[in-house]
Amino acid sequence: MKAFIASYESKAIPLYKEAALASWNANVTGSNEDFSKSEKASFEYAKLFTDKDAFAELKEIKESGALQDPLLTRQLELLYNSFLGGQVDTALIAEQIKMETEVNKKYANFRVNINDKSLSDNEVEDILRNSTKSDELRKTWEGSKLIGPVVEADVIKLVKHRNMIAQKIGFNNYHEMSLKLSGQDPEEVTKIFDELDNLTRDNFAQLKNEIDAYFAKRYKIVVSELRPWHYQNRYFQEAPEIYTVDFDKYFENQDPVKLASAYYDGIGLNVDAILAKSDLYEKPGKNQHAFCSDLDKEGDVRTLDNIRPDSYWMNTIMHELGHGVYSYYNDRELPFTLRDAAHTFTTEAIANMFGRLATDPQWMLNMGVIDKKESEKIAENSFKALRLQMLVFSRWAQVMYRFEKSMYENPDQNLNELWWNMVEKYQMLAKPVDRNMPDWATKIHVALYPCYYHNYLLGEMLASQLYIYMTENIAKNQSFVGEKEAGNYLKEKVFIPGSRYYWNDMIEKATGEKLTAKYYAKQFVQ
Ligand SMILES: [Zn+2]
Repeated sequence: MKAFIASYESKAIPLYKEAALASWNANVTGSNEDFSKSEKASFEYAKLFTDKDAFAELKEIKESGALQDPLLTRQLELLYNSFLGGQVDTALIAEQIKMETEVNKKYANFRVNINDKSLSDNEVEDILRNSTKSDELRKTWEGSKLIGPVVEADVIKLVKHRNMIAQKIGFNNYHEMSLKLSGQDPEEVTKIFDELDNLTRDNFAQLKNEIDAYFAKRYKIVVSELRPWHYQNRYFQEAPEIYTVDFDKYFENQDPVKLASAYYDGIGLNVDAILAKSDLYEKPGKNQHAFCSDLDKEGDVRTLDNIRPDSYWMNTIMHELGHGVYSYYNDRELPFTLRDAAHTFTTEAIANMFGRLATDPQWMLNMGVIDKKESEKIAENSFKALRLQMLVFSRWAQVMYRFEKSMYENPDQNLNELWWNMVEKYQMLAKPVDRNMPDWATKIHVALYPCYYHNYLLGEMLASQLYIYMTENIAKNQSFVGEKEAGNYLKEKVFIPGSRYYWNDMIEKATGEKLTAKYYAKQFVQ
């Protein structure tokens, strides 16, 4: 195993660095040349895992059961999964990518047409958020669902193709393969989702009644007439704007980068080295979103953002630097393969925990953004807005997880019915009478970012578990401002362990319990 690792690292480390740097450059410049370099470098890195002899060697070591050393065993586990994922027939992968590109074009070219006017997704969301006319809302929502029949057959074909790929390397279906190769047991994930469902159902039903009462009044109809188009979003995946706090006004004269860097420094996680290499502001051609990337697993950690002085970018820079400190404060003594997060959702959890602080009145007060009077004034509505956002999102993520799992288990079932059963059960929305449309296919994640959505919710749950553990055992103030203990705890229990432990073992070592929905419920359920 040691010889295998030495040979693997000598090839993997330079390819990893090259791919990470090329991708960074492409996102900063947006130039075709940089994008083609990045594509080539990513391809070379991915190709490493298709090596049949290397996989056979790993398989032999694994099946011998002879490894005792925990670090070697863990590396074997992670590398085995990476190489197993690379053993799929390249012709099948090429066909999958072709199918995905085709269907992606259909999503990209689709526009909603209302009264001969073509609308972008942003315009659709604007109407759903702001219109108070039921008829306009219904037409817009129905119009947005017309992409369903356009892509339905393609998505089913893709699902079956992905299942075939999974079955060829020994899995029952693609959903099972995706989770297992990323180190998740589908049964374990389902158990956590069941637990969360049980803990949130009653409170969500109660909040849903409040939402319904609010909307019935807003649209001047009775509650029984409310339909999915009345909830200010195509999927009811975001909280309706019932409790309003204008957070933007507090940040218009602030420097989000300065605030974030002072905050992280105060908790003992200085981010100067990260910011020095980052690309923080808008530029022509540059990627308009935000991400954080570890370029060499030796301290070259960078974040790309398009910062403006508002609450969205305050949240975003706190979020991205959360990813940043997780990578930057890793243990450089660990082998390359283990210098990583325990799982993608565990780094998402750290990012979310810090991102949530941006609109936390206590944090804003302690950071000098607002005064005590203002903080008290907005405390209740801020909490209610966050709670609503969390509960609405959690119910939506239940739909996505359970629909995808069931769809990959049996793509020949009545998917339209399956989708609406999930929406009615978890989001408690009323299905429009006699609706029999492939509304599930309108969500691009189902087609193109398969079997990943549940990680967003696992990340939120872990954010709550860590946050509550820290407020009860480590820190003296709820936003950790100025408390080095908070940063030290995260370094010691989460960042330095890297991926040396299975994610649920890391969580247990850090909080005394395996991942549980209890703390998400404690934080957001009354
Ligand atoms: Zn993130």
